[in-house]
Amino acid sequence: MYNWDLSDLYLGLDDQNYQDDFTLVIEMIEDLDKFANTLDTVSKDSVKEVLERQNALNFKVRKLASFLNLNESVDSSKVEYKNQMQRLMQYVSKTAEPQAKMDAHLASIDNLEELSKEDDYIYEHKFYIQEIIDQSKYQLSAKEEGLISKLNLNGVSTWQDLYNYLTSTFKLDYKGDLVSITEVRNMAYSSDAEVRKSAYEAELAGYKAIETSLAYSLNSIKGHVNTMVDLRGYNSAMHMTLEDSRMEKSTLDAMFAAIDDSLPKFREFLIHKGKLLGHKNGLPFYDLFAPVVKSDKEYTVKEAQNMIKESFATYSDDLLALVNKAFDNNWIDYLPKDGKRGGAFCANLPMIKQSRVMSNFGNDLSGVVTLAHELGHAYHGSRIEDHHMLNTSYVMPIAETASNFCELILSEAALKKADKNEKLELLENMISDATQVIVDIYSRFLFEKSVFENRKDKLLLADDLVALMHDAQLKTYGDGLDKDYLHGYMWACKGHYYSAGRNYYNFPYAYGALFSKGLYAKYLEEGDSFVEKYDKMLTNTTVASCEDIGKMVDVDVSSKEFWAKSLKMIEDMIDDFIKLSSEEE
Ligand SMILES: [Zn+2]
Repeated sequence: MYNWDLSDLYLGLDDQNYQDDFTLVIEMIEDLDKFANTLDTVSKDSVKEVLERQNALNFKVRKLASFLNLNESVDSSKVEYKNQMQRLMQYVSKTAEPQAKMDAHLASIDNLEELSKEDDYIYEHKFYIQEIIDQSKYQLSAKEEGLISKLNLNGVSTWQDLYNYLTSTFKLDYKGDLVSITEVRNMAYSSDAEVRKSAYEAELAGYKAIETSLAYSLNSIKGHVNTMVDLRGYNSAMHMTLEDSRMEKSTLDAMFAAIDDSLPKFREFLIHKGKLLGHKNGLPFYDLFAPVVKSDKEYTVKEAQNMIKESFATYSDDLLALVNKAFDNNWIDYLPKDGKRGGAFCANLPMIKQSRVMSNFGNDLSGVVTLAHELGHAYHGSRIEDHHMLNTSYVMPIAETASNFCELILSEAALKKADKNEKLELLENMISDATQVIVDIYSRFLFEKSVFENRKDKLLLADDLVALMHDAQLKTYGDGLDKDYLHGYMWACKGHYYSAGRNYYNFPYAYGALFSKGLYAKYLEEGDSFVEKYDKMLTNTTVASCEDIGKMVDVDVSSKEFWAKSLKMIEDMIDDFIKLSSEEE
């Protein structure tokens, strides 16, 4: 069975349970409005009822939305799922006003200590409530919140829809054929040097046709965020993002300071890779993903499962049990098929205490690594599924911790068994991934920062955005990239810039990759005693700040040394790779 089984959610759109739940959600939302209007002075009972109602609604909405999303992700031709989703979201947008009233009610609690001592249920939501109290200074009135939410449906969110629509349907000319952006970008992995270069040239030329629409979309979204930042009283979009990420600025600064120090080593790798491919002035952007070595070893799904089980078993019984459950109960949709979304993801489903993984497994080693990564997300899900619904979300920087950690367990085990070619391939994959999440992500971070700043007083046309992107790439890649072959349209191909709800969706990737590497180094030092601490930390990732999460595993994330140690692991890999690939046959 290579398709996932979603029947533990619903059997289909005509399943009576699905329809009943949908009706129930509509009733709950209507009811919520009335309830929110009755809220007056804070009492133990009023607080409890706010929490209970939100947990109950959250549970049902998430169950319905997950079912629709998962179905749509493996078969985009089924428009009915999309329509149902839009219908659901329209109802959900009606909760903004009562939600703001309930938040205001919780924010007016002045005796949280006392209340949480009196009542276990309130105690279990203490972090959640405290966060609302702390964030309340950025809240607008319930009426304003409701209005903004309604206007967003046909405002900022349609700019995002336009971006998604244009970039997913647009066809560009590649040697006389019309191909999608995804197809032409995938050619960057080709083993044929001419294909990689011509694909890059076709891609850059192709963006000309949609660049103005994309630039307007980006300007509108970033302009909207700047307006919201002002209205809510944040200092900047960065300030807002850090608050949403439960992270201190000093932590982010420490991470980037360590990254700054390690950039020369990444550039050394890029120049070396450039030389291996016959380039003299650093690596051209189009060869960033070029395979220097490709072992021809193939893996079946069964072999991938066995490799994952074997390596995870060396870590802990709980981790092994989780992946066995995922394999045996059809939690995974393995193979590419028509209408299926690209890439891979994992959806945690705390409503049924399970997860689902979508992948496009392609029989190679990197496909096995991806599966291990997604199963790491599933493991994280299993550690937080006993929380109340309101306590099940973790912030972006922490989201990639367990996944990267599992990826490391698998990769390290595979490295031990690999022959020279496989070792080179694995090392190159790991270093290339790291280059993306460290060096490229850093350039995206700098680019986004300059867009937010510039957008305050001007409209940025496509040429301006290209210039800002070149500038950002030169700052991070330095002489590692050939200056004549940068990629000025990275703002057009990365969807992350186009979310009004999530800004700076870049540094969390660096944070996740380096945080998990630091934890893996600790695991190697401390062995089994680390495992217990780590599990406990994962469970608490939904109810703590980034700094406190670090403390649970004895890590100070605001110190540059911690990040430097993680980066050292990558630097050592780069040295290994350069040495191994320079050896005479
Ligand atoms: Zn992930």
